[in-house]
Amino acid sequence: MYQITEEQRMLRKKLREFVDREVLPMAQSYEQSRAFPRALFSQLGDLGYLDMNYFNRRPDARYEGIDSAIILEELARGLPSMALSMSPHVQCMNLIALEGTESLRSRVVPAALRGEHVLAFAITEASGGSDALGIDTTAAFDGDGWILNGEKCWITSAGSADGYVVSAKSATSGRYRDVSLFYVDANTPGLDASFRAELIGMRNSPTGSVRMRNCKVPIDCLIGHENSAYGQMKVLLNEGRFDMAALAVGIAQGALENTVRHTSRSGHFGRTLATYQGVSFQVARMYEKIFVARNSLYTVAEMFRDQQRATMEVAALKLFASEMCVEVCRTAVQLHGAKGLSQYTDADRYFRDAQMLTIGEGSSEVCQIVISGKLYHTDLENY
Ligand SMILES: Cc1cc2nc3c(=O)[nH]c(=O)nc-3n(C[C@H](O)[C@H](O)[C@H](O)COP(=O)(O)OP(=O)(O)OC[C@H]3O[C@@H](n4cnc5c(N)ncnc54)[C@H](O)[C@@H]3O)c2cc1C
Repeated sequence: MYQITEEQRMLRKKLREFVDREVLPMAQSYEQSRAFPRALFSQLGDLGYLDMNYFNRRPDARYEGIDSAIILEELARGLPSMALSMSPHVQCMNLIALEGTESLRSRVVPAALRGEHVLAFAITEASGGSDALGIDTTAAFDGDGWILNGEKCWITSAGSADGYVVSAKSATSGRYRDVSLFYVDANTPGLDASFRAELIGMRNSPTGSVRMRNCKVPIDCLIGHENSAYGQMKVLLNEGRFDMAALAVGIAQGALENTVRHTSRSGHFGRTLATYQGVSFQVARMYEKIFVARNSLYTVAEMFRDQQRATMEVAALKLFASEMCVEVCRTAVQLHGAKGLSQYTDADRYFRDAQMLTIGEGSSEVCQIVISGKLYHTDLENY
């Protein structure tokens, strides 16, 4: 096991107690409500768990590297969709803290840290999310602000967020890489985030569209320089892939614990299921996979903390961890028998939530494109 520090062990213990007490007993009713758990989100802000950081982008942050991985893992063990909404929130907050204008920073960052102001990251468009720079949304400068037009799809926290970081092509440039990032307040006239997709999982993290029709944002809402989003998005995508791997480890851990409990209690002919090696060996393989994924997660977390380039490593981590999670959750359902197929059991919930991880933030295929592209020295960076 990767040697975590005593402080990190304590952080995990505190989070586990919090999740066992405040989240897991409510997980079923949260899921049935399909609502974004806003009160829980601000509670996480009050407890300081949103104060995460990677690549030393916000040097005064409380949690960095492995600490951040532990927070996401443990929250995903409780309510994966809550941890999913945290990922773009923290990424956008750190981006604005680092590259936003002074006025935007002071408007958004303190409230986001407290969990009072929820942030979402809107890149994907109807033409397909795998090409993150294939953007039709436009931004035109009109003298005292930017006018945004376009539609983003499959956006985490759409409709619940208070502000969106949106990628758009500068209307005056035809170059593929000339993309900029803007902060768009949810109340901006012309913004409509009312469409919500009904997904099979992650039901407490609303996923929907953000339509912008002549949405005018002030000058100070440009994040960084005009046409600088290519570099910003490469960092953000790496962070997002890392977060999905942390979620994968946490969900798989939840599914494992659940399966150990179930197979220790249920059985036939006076024996528990766990006493059959055909069952206990499958549980052992679940642990083995989680162990390997968690170690890789912490290795990449250390690379992030040391500000090393880790594009290929994070793609490999995300690919392995997300596929591992789907497999572990499938085994968990199998070992629960018909109970595992029943709606609103933990086994069923983890299984459905896990499916998102092989698609969002660079699908398994895109991760393989990144890795093979690096291996063969070709420039496929725009994935
Ligand atoms: C729950 C959820 C939350 C999300 N949250 C956000 C968010 O907050 N912000 C945001 O901007 N987006 C978000 N997304 C969108 C997500 O990033 C995209 O779904 C993802 O990038 C894949 O894009 P796509 O769904 O359009 O699939 P497509 O790009 O259309 O791909 C379809 C399939 O083709 C494969 N494929 C595509 N290109 C290639 C290729 N060159 N070679 C081989 N295979 C290929 C893909 O791997 C995939 O299997 C979210 C998605 C989900 C499901």
